[in-house]
Amino acid sequence: MSERYAVIGQPVAHSKSPWIHAQFARATRQDIEYGLIEAPLGGFARAADEFRAAGGKGLNVTLPFKEDAFRYCRSVTPRATVACAVNTVKFGAEVSGDNTDGIGLVRDLAGNLGIDLRGSRILLMGAGGAAQGVLGALLEAGVAGLTVANRNEDKARELAARFSGVAASGYAALEGRFDIVINATSAGLSGETPALSSALLARARLAYDMVYGRETPFLAAARAAGVPACDGLGMLVEQAAESFFFWRGVRPDTAGVLRELRGR
Ligand code: NDP
Repeated sequence: MSERYAVIGQPVAHSKSPWIHAQFARATRQDIEYGLIEAPLGGFARAADEFRAAGGKGLNVTLPFKEDAFRYCRSVTPRATVACAVNTVKFGAEVSGDNTDGIGLVRDLAGNLGIDLRGSRILLMGAGGAAQGVLGALLEAGVAGLTVANRNEDKARELAARFSGVAASGYAALEGRFDIVINATSAGLSGETPALSSALLARARLAYDMVYGRETPFLAAARAAGVPACDGLGMLVEQAAESFFFWRGVRPDTAGVLRELRGR
């Protein structure tokens, strides 16, 4: 019988994870079923308990439940501990959790896009769950400098203070040059963009928006300034592959899945 997995979130109907994991399962000959669970706010633990009791083997966790999942797991990996958030839950002898967002971003930047992160100066915009999940992995990748900027500056400062060597700022006070500007805000979902100066954006080598499946104003502004721009679809596929590995011990190939998602 197929082993059952699902993505849990609110909302979750739009998720590409079932399709991605079905491709991984086919390619690696793993017999799994992968569904969607839309849980009410405050209802993560109950929905996860029910899924586990019905034989579920693991969950991907998306907005707004990553911190609930962190508290729910009996054990978590070091990178999930650093992020204080879990995006992958495994139901084995005990309930264990991982966070694959950071490694997903780094694999997309370094592997798929060929960016040399060592020595790069990074501006990370946003201080929510997504920014929190990737800071540790960016530092581990050996970046030369990392600044977190957020609309609510206090949140940027609180996040940066958890790591050594990370600077924090509001948008207006940013200056200098960043090689890579990563938009980890949800601004693009509402057709908005963080208040980054166009001069700073124009000096970047790459503009990366974690939002995927749409041309955000941030990506459009980067392209208009002649800066190479990329959405977060590759990160989505790479974090999914790492989740698949956490559950199944098999690492799926991502290139074909990403190509198909991009419709090439
Ligand atoms: P959160 O709700 O936790 O945080 C939202 C962040 O966006 C905050 O820093 C908030 O700033 C900022 N923000 C929202 N609107 C604006 C705006 N108009 N101008 C400036 N800043 C704004 O969301 P997450 O961090 O969990 O997710 C962020 C995005 O990343 C989502 O769109 C999500 O889809 C995407 N994502 C993509 C992944 C992938 O695999 N590609 C993986 C994970 C996330 P403030 O604190 O000032 O309100």
